[in-house]
Amino acid sequence: MQRSKLKQINQSVNDASATHDSSINGHFEGKAKIAKWAVLSKDATGETSSSQPSSVIESWKEARTRSVEDNEMSLPSIAAAYSTILRGLGEDPERQGLLKTPWRAATAMQFFTKGYQEQIIDVLNDAIFDEDHDEMVIVKDIDMFSMCEHHLVPIFGRVHIGYLPNKRVLGLSKLARIVEIYSRRLQVQERLTKQIAVAITEALQPAGVGVVVEATHMCMVMRGVQKMNSKTVTSAMLGVFREDPKTRDEFLTLIRS
Ligand SMILES: [Zn+2]
Repeated sequence: MQRSKLKQINQSVNDASATHDSSINGHFEGKAKIAKWAVLSKDATGETSSSQPSSVIESWKEARTRSVEDNEMSLPSIAAAYSTILRGLGEDPERQGLLKTPWRAATAMQFFTKGYQEQIIDVLNDAIFDEDHDEMVIVKDIDMFSMCEHHLVPIFGRVHIGYLPNKRVLGLSKLARIVEIYSRRLQVQERLTKQIAVAITEALQPAGVGVVVEATHMCMVMRGVQKMNSKTVTSAMLGVFREDPKTRDEFLTLIRS
């Protein structure tokens, strides 16, 4: 790993301590260094929308919002909240089958959101290599499990990532780890897609990055439209993936092959 980059990252992390309040619960107010990017989303009806949200993330400035110790401390109160929910649903939390449910549910919810305990910088340490490789790198079909922040039910699917290196590459397994850190939080699919793309851009400063997320939202499948097979596809294209249709097409073709 390049020393200069490491230094730069550490510097940013130190800067972050003062501002980490703005990144609680995955909502980021930080301004982006990257000027050009776009998120295209295609919903179940096949309609495509393009958005240019006002704020973008700066992954380095993002602080951990939870620790393993926090988990232990908050487990009783989360479990108590689940007991309240059970009662509110017309159940009896004291009946045998439900006796341990609040604790199990609390532990499971902490696991589903364990991305709050991790930082992108942990993943990148010792995983960025100088390499004279300038062909597209693609990792496709990365499994993804997340939680919809509007309904607290699962979103699951696959993530495809491509980037065009600029003399710097990332250990391949680390791309999946970046997906894991952002997906194990309360999310909306558009933000998840964008966060992955921006984190890779900031880490590697590549010529371009493309991220495509295909996911099923249980809140759509089990309620509302109840479409069993509806999938939501979102993409974020940065750098040459955004500017050059040929590069973008190559990426899109390769992830479909
Ligand atoms: Zn939802």
